[in-house]
Amino acid sequence: MRACPSCQRSRSPRALLDRALKGSEIESASAPGINALRTFDPPLSELAGEQITGVRRRGKHLIVEATGELALLIHLMSAGRLQLYDKRAGPRDRTSRLLVRLADGRELRLREFGSKQAAWVKLLRSSELEDDDAAGDARPGSLARPAGAGAAAGRARPLHTLLRDQHTIAGIGRSWVDEILWSARLSPFKRANDLDDDERDRLRHAIVQTLGDAIAHYEQVVTLPIPDKLPMPLRVHRHEGEACPRCATILKAVHFEDYVIAYCPACQTDGRVLKDRRLSRLLR
Ligand SMILES: [Zn+2]
Repeated sequence: MRACPSCQRSRSPRALLDRALKGSEIESASAPGINALRTFDPPLSELAGEQITGVRRRGKHLIVEATGELALLIHLMSAGRLQLYDKRAGPRDRTSRLLVRLADGRELRLREFGSKQAAWVKLLRSSELEDDDAAGDARPGSLARPAGAGAAAGRARPLHTLLRDQHTIAGIGRSWVDEILWSARLSPFKRANDLDDDERDRLRHAIVQTLGDAIAHYEQVVTLPIPDKLPMPLRVHRHEGEACPRCATILKAVHFEDYVIAYCPACQTDGRVLKDRRLSRLLR
């Protein structure tokens, strides 16, 4: 999302932080405000002298990785921001819930702009990172391990139905299904149990990427007070008749009684235009 028009690199807050912080040496780290730190071992002081190796996203979490096998796992919740400042805060700054001072004089601060102080931080060893189930959030990547007979039956359904079903996989709003399937280059009518390994990987990646980008987008555009309605950064859904952002083929749609599936015939259905149910009903 929001790639720079000239260099095509992502301008998400995560990507910007990643580029700005990579290689920076940490002078000190502390949690000066209301304590956001949910772990005590290793202590934040272990970050001193280490270098930041990158900033990545996993689901709703930001992960700031450092040398020394250390990683800060950060959940911004609804109103947290991870911000990079060129100047140091005064010694009495208490608005930062996490304060990482860099050797070059910059500061990375976790600040929270809501009335509730809910954002949190864990300092983990890299080896603990993959085990840490974070806050037990619904994890978008977990589609590959459904359990039980119900799930098996579910997998025979078309992808667009399966992904919208909150019992199968929680948290994907209907509008995002079109974006995910477009991103994965999969037909909305492909059955989940017909996916080969590569297609399953693409789908899993597209779910994580699309929802992660959406979260990053909202982090960037949301200001306080939070408006009732936020425009969604959709590229395919509701864009029937417009050019596919990837290949410029005109996007098509299938209309159902209470929803519409949009897709790119070139990217997703081998050039086939899917039957519009609304039309076929009229013709019957
Ligand atoms: Zn296309």
